[in-house]
Amino acid sequence: MQLALALAARGKGFTSPNPCVGAVVVKNGEVVGEGWHRAFGADHAEVMAINHAGDAARGADLFVTLEPCNHFGKTPPCTHKILRAGIRRVVAACPDPNPKAAGGLEFLAQNGVDVSCGLLQVEAETLIEDFLWYVRHHTPFVILSAPPLWTVALPLPRVTPSGSPVKNPGPSGMKSGARWMPSWWVPEPCMPTILL
Ligand SMILES: [Zn+2]
Repeated sequence: MQLALALAARGKGFTSPNPCVGAVVVKNGEVVGEGWHRAFGADHAEVMAINHAGDAARGADLFVTLEPCNHFGKTPPCTHKILRAGIRRVVAACPDPNPKAAGGLEFLAQNGVDVSCGLLQVEAETLIEDFLWYVRHHTPFVILSAPPLWTVALPLPRVTPSGSPVKNPGPSGMKSGARWMPSWWVPEPCMPTILL
């Protein structure tokens, strides 16, 4: 699973709105297939790993960082590919919280595949924490920090507490080093920065 996580990390930042996922096919203690989700619309990690393994996938174990999908999205369900390939056992790191795609492990179990979930789950969920946040809360994942030496002004609200408008210095003002501060003033060391 460590290898699957490392493979997943290769796709980090390229797969939105999908999460980054890695998969490894193991046969008789040897890695025979590796895959990761490279970009939205591209093959899922499981498909890439199974294709890489070829005939060796039959009777093999599949380690994957996220529960295999069980729905038709941009690509067919990975669960169907796993069954066709003859994978014997699927070990997932974490369940898929997306209700549209979830149910993959249950479907595989119903079709005779040995399944388990939870191996290195914390590591896997940390890797896709932005995706998990979005699915669970339907809002973008935002990092807030409080840098001690500089600030970034937030554009809203555009009036002071007394109601008078805050003047935007415009591009020239920004170039000269001026900062457009919001109407509610926060001591610089505590000013939040938004990193998207
Ligand atoms: Zn899939």
